Amino acid sequence: MSGTSPYLIPPEDLGTLFPDEPSFRADQLREWLYRSPVLTADEMTNLPSSLRETIGDALWPFEVEVDQSADNGRTRKWLFRSPDGAAIEAVLMGYRKRTTICISSQVGCAMGCTFCATGQFGFDRHLEAGEIVAQVAYANAFLRRFPIAGSPDHVTNVVYMGMGEPLANYDRVRESLRRLIDVSGLSARSVTVSTVGVVPGIQRLADEPWPVYLAVSLHGADDETRSRLVPLNDRYPLETVIEAAKGYFDSKGRRLSIEWTLIAGANDSDDQARKLAVIARRLRAHVNVIALNPTPLSADRPSDGDRIHSFLETLISNGANATLRETRGQEIDAACGQLRLRSATE
Ligand code: SF4
Repeated sequence: MSGTSPYLIPPEDLGTLFPDEPSFRADQLREWLYRSPVLTADEMTNLPSSLRETIGDALWPFEVEVDQSADNGRTRKWLFRSPDGAAIEAVLMGYRKRTTICISSQVGCAMGCTFCATGQFGFDRHLEAGEIVAQVAYANAFLRRFPIAGSPDHVTNVVYMGMGEPLANYDRVRESLRRLIDVSGLSARSVTVSTVGVVPGIQRLADEPWPVYLAVSLHGADDETRSRLVPLNDRYPLETVIEAAKGYFDSKGRRLSIEWTLIAGANDSDDQARKLAVIARRLRAHVNVIALNPTPLSADRPSDGDRIHSFLETLISNGANATLRETRGQEIDAACGQLRLRSATE
């Protein structure tokens, strides 16, 4: 790859790529990048060939190192590699009415959640806003050529739930939201930002103009349980996270979701379910329960079917809205950080 990817240039400054050209050329390029992305610069048919050559093979800020599909083509996982060697994972999932991409916001993660493949690698670096947005744009360009049968032919939903803690990379994530919503035209209602409980980040997000959905990963319904799984809980204890989430709900009016990875013997008891139901009712939040996708570096195992069933039953009978989330792409290591983990250990 040579040159600077136009995704790494703020959309308003794209004219700097072709200083001798009229300004409408930058507008045309912005359309291609943010409104109707294509896989190669050659497909930007209204740009003169000299400009397409200027962009050349630097269109994307990364190369596609791994491209895997699963679930009969309904799930696709990419491992992108940036020129500095950073690994960026994204997972595209086709449903009947939605095509959702789960994107990464950091390379690695400093939060150290004990059950998470990314957390076990530690933190490498933040992703730039352009690297975050380019994951969505790449998926749109890909879908244009290879749609998922039976699903919308473009990305309808974006979830910041891949590698990294989005609110620990606040300014770049904020800029990526601006580009996705204000420049690309994606509805804020189609975007979910997840956090493991970075309280100042939740508070800042509540002041932003975009009513995106907030998903809070709790994984423990009391401080003792949560601190064992999520070290950040020592810094921002459960009650402060709940209060910040409540503030977000009050400010945006958007239903919150609580993410809960069920881990055998760690957080899958009926007692945890009862405590979680109290929190969910207090926040009027929906609980997404997901069975752990085990990783080779951790001894944690998913709960068995009976335990999952009992946990959900207890949650619901105690007044919480809860669903068991479908796990996608297990045969392709689709939990966050797993593809990178495998590429680094092979
Ligand atoms: S679960 Fe999320 S916040 Fe925790 S270590 Fe993994 S990527 Fe980071």
